[in-house]
Amino acid sequence: MSKFGDFPSVTRGFLDGEPWHRQSPRVRPSILNPLFTDLTDLPGVGPKFAALIQKVSGPRPVDLVLTLPTGVIDRSHRPMIDATQDGEHATLTVTIDKHEAPPANRRSAPYRVLASDGTGFIRLVFFRAHRDWLEKTLPEGATRIISGKVEAYGNQRQMVHPDAIVDPEADGDLPSAEPIYPLTAGLQQKVMLKASRAALKRVPGLPEWQRDDVLAREKFPTFGDAIYAVHQPQTRLDMAPENPARRRLAYDEFLASQLALALTRKIQRSVGGRRFVGDGQLVAAARGALPFALTGDQDKVLGEIKADLEAKQKMVRLVQGDVGSGKTVVGLLAGLSVIEAGAQVAFMAPTEILARQHLASMEPLLEAAGVSALLLTGRDKGQERAAKLRALEEGYVQLAVGTHAVFSEDVAFHDLGLAIIDEQHRFGVQQRLKLQEKGRGTDVLVMTATPIPRTLALTAYGDMDVSQIREKPPGRKPVDTRAIPLARLADVVEGVARAIDAGGQVYWVCPLVEANEQLSATAAEERFRELQARFGEQVELVHGRMKSPEKDAAVRRFSEGNAKLLVATTVIEVGVNAPDATVIVIEHAERFGLAQLHQLRGRVGRGDKPGSCILLYGGAPGELSETTKARLNVLRQSQDGFEIAEEDLRLRGSGDALGTAQSGFPTFHLASVGDHGSLLEMATSDANLIVEQDPELSSERGQALRTLLYFFSRDDAIRRLRSG
Ligand code: ADP
Ligand code: MG
Repeated sequence: MSKFGDFPSVTRGFLDGEPWHRQSPRVRPSILNPLFTDLTDLPGVGPKFAALIQKVSGPRPVDLVLTLPTGVIDRSHRPMIDATQDGEHATLTVTIDKHEAPPANRRSAPYRVLASDGTGFIRLVFFRAHRDWLEKTLPEGATRIISGKVEAYGNQRQMVHPDAIVDPEADGDLPSAEPIYPLTAGLQQKVMLKASRAALKRVPGLPEWQRDDVLAREKFPTFGDAIYAVHQPQTRLDMAPENPARRRLAYDEFLASQLALALTRKIQRSVGGRRFVGDGQLVAAARGALPFALTGDQDKVLGEIKADLEAKQKMVRLVQGDVGSGKTVVGLLAGLSVIEAGAQVAFMAPTEILARQHLASMEPLLEAAGVSALLLTGRDKGQERAAKLRALEEGYVQLAVGTHAVFSEDVAFHDLGLAIIDEQHRFGVQQRLKLQEKGRGTDVLVMTATPIPRTLALTAYGDMDVSQIREKPPGRKPVDTRAIPLARLADVVEGVARAIDAGGQVYWVCPLVEANEQLSATAAEERFRELQARFGEQVELVHGRMKSPEKDAAVRRFSEGNAKLLVATTVIEVGVNAPDATVIVIEHAERFGLAQLHQLRGRVGRGDKPGSCILLYGGAPGELSETTKARLNVLRQSQDGFEIAEEDLRLRGSGDALGTAQSGFPTFHLASVGDHGSLLEMATSDANLIVEQDPELSSERGQALRTLLYFFSRDDAIRRLRSG
């Protein structure tokens, strides 16, 4: 399954219904068409370069427009050779002294050209260069302006592949500044620059979509001026997030995103929902069987959900609650009230292990309520699967618990009233949109343990109502958290031995190695063997490369208490429940996001014994960056996921460094949630106002806003508007 799950096919069977509106898709304003063609339409871009450019920006010219320079070559910096520093970008006026061609039998050796300016020498270095071209471009005795990165090479200087060589007599001077674009192997700066420029030329004059008062107050340039400006920085200062052109574009991008969410929200809720009003008997029976009382927050959230279920409007609600805050039981009780009203419920977990555990933990309550449930996983085959599907279709099973992959084409429900999606952070808005589209009348409840900073939540969840469980069940003790260098591994292993002797269980988490599952698995296997040598049969291993039955067996031995130490990659993040686990060791903790570490930490201290978390970090204490130290400290000092998430955002600061790209959050090209947070809030309220005043986007500004949505490819919602 892809990292975003598998929604299109997943939802097909079980949420099938009429599409909301049956009219033809709205079309993109034709003035934008030149930006949405193939890259090969751009001059100088053939199939080969198109493939490379696609890697760094995207498949269409508009993606090039949305790919901003990462730096700028400042050619006003023109030192003499002896004043250049190692690593700096400089423009030099030099005399070409001598060609040093590699010997004929060593074709792979670089071709060097010696040049000087009276204060010193520099070697221009070319790999796999054509000798003819070099002799023509750099004739001995000629004067040339060259620009590029100066490097120290022993006590000499060199410049590898200058990015510009100019004959001052023939070509005049160089532009004083040139943007630097992201590149990939085989794609040169020159090609990328040219393609980007060509794409930029295709940006047409566009109608203004921002309000006059906003433009005046913020001193925003027009969209056209702004997009040109950000592609032509003169100095690094021009690239700063506070630059008015950057701010204008950030605001545009946020507005597009927030408007799309606001429209989606509006459309979702306009679709006829159903009222689920139960008699409360099943819920009462299940609550009576609970060995504990619900916390105040659980009760509050359950109330919010029930109000949604009973209202005619369709429910699309997110429950945010830290690990261990008790979301599962809230979801189940909500499901029971839908079952009371005669409909079925689907409960989707992100992994098979978790689906199994959910059902197991629900069983006593289901029994008390007399509700029939089944587990549906990818492993059900043949007769057994067919029987389960029939049970769902004919409606004599009321609850299906499973993974997303399970709800594939052939799964049909008799009457699905509520879909509960656990651990939603693996899905993005787009996946949710698709889910909405198919699920006519089916209420949707999403549960996530990822605490999200408020600003980020605006961009990710603007289409949902949000409930929060911040209160933990009583008696939870804070997990004692320490950072220890990996060099003290032996001590840690002895600590683990003591914990096991005291009757506890231990998780040992190995990190993903450069997002490479194979390497990660190998690392985990190695650690497993070492720990096995010390602890023997008490150790189990689980990682993403193992087959499901093996994985399950390992996890089961651990969660049933028969194994004491579980070596795992982050597959356990959302998975295993072992109440007796008291210690979690996380190797190379510095490689994890704070939110992820916090989630992992939530695996211990779930029972009545206090837990501890050991963050093993690579390198010596002095080698950790200040930020890393600060981040690990946050974790030691706070147990509140929301607080941790806010701190993480603050410490990581701007840009896409939020570690959100992989988690289904919308990505921004021109805006940064960290740097432009206040613009995001403005855009959110503007978007809500627009949807209130002009829900069909039919006014003059509404038409301009449609163009905005298309430009940023946030046009999904437009297609669902009734009229255009
Ligand atoms: P999460 O929010 O991480 O999904 P779970 O639903 O798995 O949390 O709950 C964690 C543990 O807390 C479970 O063992 C559950 O039975 C228990 N639990 C849930 N609510 C309460 C409560 N109100 N009081 C005591 N224990 C609770
Ligand atoms: Mg959970």
